[in-house]
Amino acid sequence: MGNEVTVRTRFAPSPTGHLHVGGARTALFSWLFARSMGGAFILRIEDTDTARSTEAAVEQIISSMAWLGLDWDEGPGKGGACGPYRQMERAGLYESAAQRLFEEGRAYRCYCSPKALEDARRAAREEGRQFLYPGTCREGAGKQASGDYVVRLRTPDSGSTVVRDLVRGDVEFDDALSDDFIIVRSNGVPTYNFAAAVDDDAMAVSHVIRGDDHLPNTPKQIHVIQALGGTVPAYAHLPLILGPDQSPLSKRHGSVSVEEFRSKGYIREAMINYLALLGWSLDGETTLFTLEELVSSFTLERVGKNAAVFDNDKLLWMNGSHIRSLPGNELAQRVEEYLAGGPLEGLPGSDGLPGVADLVPLVHEKMKTLEDFITLTGFFFLPFAYEEKALSKLLDDENAPGVLAAAREVIAAIEPYDAGGLESSLRERADKMDIKLGRFLQPVRIAVSGRTVTPGMFETLMALGREKSLERIDAAAGMLSSKG
Ligand code: GLU
Repeated sequence: MGNEVTVRTRFAPSPTGHLHVGGARTALFSWLFARSMGGAFILRIEDTDTARSTEAAVEQIISSMAWLGLDWDEGPGKGGACGPYRQMERAGLYESAAQRLFEEGRAYRCYCSPKALEDARRAAREEGRQFLYPGTCREGAGKQASGDYVVRLRTPDSGSTVVRDLVRGDVEFDDALSDDFIIVRSNGVPTYNFAAAVDDDAMAVSHVIRGDDHLPNTPKQIHVIQALGGTVPAYAHLPLILGPDQSPLSKRHGSVSVEEFRSKGYIREAMINYLALLGWSLDGETTLFTLEELVSSFTLERVGKNAAVFDNDKLLWMNGSHIRSLPGNELAQRVEEYLAGGPLEGLPGSDGLPGVADLVPLVHEKMKTLEDFITLTGFFFLPFAYEEKALSKLLDDENAPGVLAAAREVIAAIEPYDAGGLESSLRERADKMDIKLGRFLQPVRIAVSGRTVTPGMFETLMALGREKSLERIDAAAGMLSSKG
């Protein structure tokens, strides 16, 4: 037997809101590392902040993870040998871990009043020094038998704690600059640093992969794990994600939740691809990856130290590119699902109108988001309306009445009704009327779509069908004659 570590990673979100791109990137890197190493990926819900945690957020996070395709081997809804996987259901574990540390003298009860601590903190602030708990209750540990207390971990006063970080290398923290921090609050609820460390130990997590902002917590968590006699996992702190103005990515920069991107018509392949490049790269050049390619090429060594900038334009470009790579029937399926998620006043395929599968080939190359499908083909199935610009063009076009009458004749008579035939017959009529084809088709385009720009005219007439095309041409002709 070798002594390789069984890779076990975890994603440990606090359910206080939607899954943001930062959290999703953390989840993805933990997932990719586990998958690339044949290890296990754990989802753990860190809901000890009961005032800010909500059930709705738990569901949102789970639904965004499922949408991205980041499946977990252990966690909510899945179970596993180290469950339960929600911290509020693990209270007994933290309690017994704290009790054990207390009995072994590695932790002690602190009866200092919040007021006394606050005064000391204020005094430190006024004198411009960092406040560190002075260890008042350290030696009399547990002597006072009654009154509210918190539990503090006894930490070294000198020396240093080194975080061996797989991204940043060794990061040394001076123990003299940290104090005996609280592991259990007076209400019995464990602090984040305690619960996370107890869980990482109990769940045998081998690699803690998370955002840079957690680096200062790491020495504390290492102290907890060492006090518990556990094995300190490897750490990998991922670089910060910035907005285009170089400040940390936040709502000010626009969409930041996975759900928002999904509802704007981004597809999971592009989201995953883009998130993967926020801090990781294969060779600094290759930009397009499938999930399978990421699994086979992902390594923590290739995670960079520098902050990554979130670039919406690049994500949009990438989304278009992944949409083009989808087979037509797959894209049609995605569009169907997308349309089903939003209230529209009309849907493709109803009332003799062309269906999604008929329309996708017309716009597949042009779509950058699933939402573009509606923008580009909505005139086929949404309640008919002229764009202002299109209407005035139609009204100003002196050829329009004659062209519409001619086009009507061709469309009504042609057999079979196909794009090639439509093209040659309409071209012939345009020649006969001595109007350039482009000009000839313009009133027809506006009549059937209400717009000046559409997919190819003959494909559009084909998709709309003879009957609907005639109906719309007649309506336009009627409008022109009543105005005229
Ligand atoms: N629950 C923490 C958070 O959402 C993450 C903890 C961790 O990864 O250690 O920020």
